[in-house]
Amino acid sequence: MTREQDEHARLSALLGAMDMGILFVSHDDRVVYSNPAFTRIWMIAPGTRLIGRNSQEVLASSACVLARPEEQGRRMLRLPREGEILGTLEIQMADGRLVTQQVHSVEDVYGRPVGHLWLFEDVTRARQTADQLIYLAERDALTGLYNRHRFNEELGRMIADAERHHSRVALLFYDLDEFKYINDTFGHRAGDAMLIRVAGEVAGQVRRNEIFARLGGDEFAILVPEISDEMLRVLADRITQSIAQVRFQFEGQSLRLTSSLGIAIYPDHADNVEDLIARADTAMYQAKEAGKNAWRTYRSDLDTTQEMVSRLSWNDRILHALENHLMDLQFQGVYSTADRSLSHFEVLVRMRDKDDASVLVMPGQFIPVAEKSGKILDIDRWVLRESIQMLAEVKSIPALAVNISGRSFDEPMLPQYIAEQLKRYGVAPRRLMVELTETSAVSDLHDAQRFIEALHQTGCGVSLDDFGTGFSSFAYLKHLQVDSVKIDGLFIRNLPKRYDNQLFVKAMVTVARGLHKTTIAECVEDEDTLTMLKSFDVDCAQGYFLEKPRADHPLLLGASRLKNANMELRFT
Ligand code: C2E
Ligand code: MG
Ligand code: MG
Repeated sequence: MTREQDEHARLSALLGAMDMGILFVSHDDRVVYSNPAFTRIWMIAPGTRLIGRNSQEVLASSACVLARPEEQGRRMLRLPREGEILGTLEIQMADGRLVTQQVHSVEDVYGRPVGHLWLFEDVTRARQTADQLIYLAERDALTGLYNRHRFNEELGRMIADAERHHSRVALLFYDLDEFKYINDTFGHRAGDAMLIRVAGEVAGQVRRNEIFARLGGDEFAILVPEISDEMLRVLADRITQSIAQVRFQFEGQSLRLTSSLGIAIYPDHADNVEDLIARADTAMYQAKEAGKNAWRTYRSDLDTTQEMVSRLSWNDRILHALENHLMDLQFQGVYSTADRSLSHFEVLVRMRDKDDASVLVMPGQFIPVAEKSGKILDIDRWVLRESIQMLAEVKSIPALAVNISGRSFDEPMLPQYIAEQLKRYGVAPRRLMVELTETSAVSDLHDAQRFIEALHQTGCGVSLDDFGTGFSSFAYLKHLQVDSVKIDGLFIRNLPKRYDNQLFVKAMVTVARGLHKTTIAECVEDEDTLTMLKSFDVDCAQGYFLEKPRADHPLLLGASRLKNANMELRFT
């Protein structure tokens, strides 16, 4: 008897502590038991006696107001008919709460039905968090538009739909003609405000079944299903004109922007996602060549210039190189100016030509194309993986600095990928440094900030590459929590002969020091420059005078990728 009482006490404590609302009714629909969570969720006054009442009486004692009483009222606490299986019902309350309802039949030890058990759960918070996560994963933080990730998904989906229904999809690409000038001259705050404003204007022209996305920087895309040529013309006109009409006041000046817009249509111009993107991009360049502030539909007869042809084929070459182990790395030492000791190596990617593997293609030729097509993400991940593996194999390498394209900042998984690889190979995070290119960092300041923060949490050093190439470099240095700045080669080459550059470099060092950041000078090509940099208190130097980038630096020889590379070369 006491055992039974104990068990009963334990059970009722458990049911009483649960967040889930429980209502047990007998086979003739009379309440046998309810727990406190049930009365809480249904806003039934404390002390109301429910035992013995039927479902309708229980509902009548609830102070809840349903958002859709007609439709949901009929299904609440309705028992299943013979053989009927009721799934989870979502009940939306007028006060915004979302409650789920489930019913289970209960049998006694002989398998005879004795009643039903109702379960209710308030899922408002959980659902809001899930919605918020989805929102963050598929939205651009600055403008609130869809991001590139969601855009790619939608593009794939719309093309698959169009293929099935034999319909068309138009892809519109545009960028802002003078955006970089505004960003450099008036600072990122003006640039950001301008992007938000322009996005707002264009959003007014876009309909609900169309997808409007920011792909990064000042690049935007719109996907339009099932549209006639005439409607497309009207839309393109409206978008370019609405952007050109924006007047923007900043620090007493009136600024305006124009855009260049390119259109490619599935299946008229391309029969797959990659080609459609490439064609819209080409059309955008055709609009720029036509004098900017214009739009163009893709025209294959204009797509014969060497540049256009190579833009398309470069994508194939990059893909081929990634799949066939034709990407390669070179390393260049970065040395302390004080005692010329090695600080770390910068890792520089090269691509071997597919027809002649001894020909090295330099990054200047393929990185810009890879940034446009998104393949840069694969390149950056490959370089990271190889570098981390080398750090694991050759313990004597102090650190490797890897270049990361600004295009990778909005890839939310990249910092996590870096952390995972470091852990997997057992490499101390401080041995990996990341160089961010300044120009891209500026146009996506918020993404850059998040990216830097995540890298710091992992324990990696971060430096800002090509520092000084935008006029406003100093202004945003304050907002980017990098550890060091790498002064662009533009200011370093011929330093002893260029008095203006000497002033610039001194100013950059003063500001960087004031913000507790170290400085590195790249493209140091002679002894005089190095001596001068040392006298300006620049911390580290890198350049042909000290060492050219090479694949087989003596300090790196323990790495298996070098052994393999040598073997490959011998066999070819
Ligand atoms: P960066 O990061 O500013 O790299 C410095 C560039 O200057 C390298 O060119 C290097 O070879 C070159 N350099 C080094 N010392 C001297 C010198 O004394 N004189 C001169 N004139 N040049 C020197 P590279 O390797 O052609 O790389 C060009 C750019 O491509 C890099 O600029 C970087 O932005 C990008 N890049 C290189 N590797 C990668 C990579 O793995 N991933 C990404 N995302 N970008 C990369
Ligand atoms: Mg670099
Ligand atoms: Mg640089």
